[in-house]
Amino acid sequence: MSSTSSIGHYIQGQICAGTSGRAQDVFNPATGAVTGRVALASRAEVGAAVAAAQAAFPAWADTPPLRRARVMFKFLELLNQHRDYLARMITAEHGKVFTDAQGEVTRGIEIVEFACGIPQLLKGDYTEQVSTGIDNWTMRQPLGVVAGITPFNFPVMVPMWMFPVAMACGNTFVLKPSPIDPSPSLFIAELLKQAGLPDGVFNVVQGDKEAVDALLDHPDVKAVSFVGSTPIANYIYETGAHHGKRVQALGGAKNHMVVMPDADVQQVVDALIGSAYGSAGERCMAISVAVLVGDVADRIMPALVERTKSLKVLDGMNRAAEMGPIVTEAARQRISGYIEAGVKEGAQLLVDGRGFDGARAGAGCEGGFWLGGTLFDHVTPEMKIYQEEIFGPVLSCVRVPDLATAVRLINEHEFGNGTSCFTRDGNVAREFARRIQVGMVGINVPIPVPMAWHGFGGWKRSLFGDMHAYGEEGVRFYTKQKSVMQRWPESIAKGAEFVMPTAQ
Ligand code: NAD
Repeated sequence: MSSTSSIGHYIQGQICAGTSGRAQDVFNPATGAVTGRVALASRAEVGAAVAAAQAAFPAWADTPPLRRARVMFKFLELLNQHRDYLARMITAEHGKVFTDAQGEVTRGIEIVEFACGIPQLLKGDYTEQVSTGIDNWTMRQPLGVVAGITPFNFPVMVPMWMFPVAMACGNTFVLKPSPIDPSPSLFIAELLKQAGLPDGVFNVVQGDKEAVDALLDHPDVKAVSFVGSTPIANYIYETGAHHGKRVQALGGAKNHMVVMPDADVQQVVDALIGSAYGSAGERCMAISVAVLVGDVADRIMPALVERTKSLKVLDGMNRAAEMGPIVTEAARQRISGYIEAGVKEGAQLLVDGRGFDGARAGAGCEGGFWLGGTLFDHVTPEMKIYQEEIFGPVLSCVRVPDLATAVRLINEHEFGNGTSCFTRDGNVAREFARRIQVGMVGINVPIPVPMAWHGFGGWKRSLFGDMHAYGEEGVRFYTKQKSVMQRWPESIAKGAEFVMPTAQ
């Protein structure tokens, strides 16, 4: 991974070089060095991947679910053997710290574990004797070729929200990863092949908008799962639906953590530091707004400032690192622009992460994409830094007088991905969970990412579509229900029936 490599596609069980003539650089964000060139697929290359998946579909859909599950069990074993290698691949192209990357791999593996139970999950319903001599049952059948379009921030976990469930259900899959950190997708493809997955069932096309558009209007792609920013999620949802596809498109976020006056100060500071600056804030469930109720702000602020200033911002492979670099130079500049805007709008800048010297992060890091943690106080809802997703290590503190104001603030925000409330009062917690207009809620849990069998999804402009990722909703998204009514000759009514059938 240290030398420059060519990163191609994976079609019909083979890694293949790009033929479009278009490619882009892949960086190690810690050093700023170019480590690879990733191909950007043309329409024709996307067409080849979809054709491979379409050809593989009939046999894979006909494979008994238990045998599909056995491929998943083997894949699980291989993932467990190679989890640290995958985590190193993530750190090398994304920059997040190695232990965080290990956590990402683990959360992805949990979806594979869930998908191993597919025979149970695909069980239909059966009603005997819905009318005399007639039984009714339902079955769930796969859709065909389905596509996954994924963001840079979880190059292993987010694809694994999708393809294990989709393929266990009997679909074939085309993954379009982020071109920013594309390498893990090809390693995953190799592991799936080793696990015994037939060629063509899982394919990878690297690329940008051109590849995405080719998937969105391809008639053989029956469903699209997307995770990324809200403007693109909105576009994917509208365009995919226009072309008659099922779409689940998960978008951006602005996650608030409410801190009640009765919360434990040390626990709150730990929770805010980890959830705002972990993965350099580049998580869709990162806490980017602290809503401080009553007098709690004055009690936590000194410790929060101190911890933000002393964050261990280091090369992600350094075991002492708490935060790594920003993913790209463009992202670093965008985040710096938000910090500037916050200052201009009158927020109080308590810790400024700009100007962080990469040399402090480790040998060879001078040219990396570095920022320190940034902390604002007295942020108000009219400010751009409050309204927009910054997606970087910037925590905005908003002061409110009471819980009702905190809840109103959150409910009025355009995003509704995650939120949390820190309190010792059970009634406050219960009311918060009931009243809040957000899809994933933590009570004294700062980043409440649901487990593999619960499903992941926000509300409002954080999710377009009605089905959450993975869990039972994932199974429903990747299958269509068929209802069968059956009777046999002995009970078939004599003569033609012209009235609406009712139970007899
Ligand atoms: P992004 O929207 O830029 O890219 C996501 C995917 O869309 C990538 O595969 C990219 O190649 C593709 N894409 C980008 N521009 C496109 C265009 N104009 N037309 C078609 N396709 C395009 O997102 P990102 O920067 O990779 O990821 C960060 C974003 O993802 C943040 O907004 C974050 O909140 C969000 N995210 C959301 C969740 C969630 O579950 N809601 C999870 C992870 C990340």
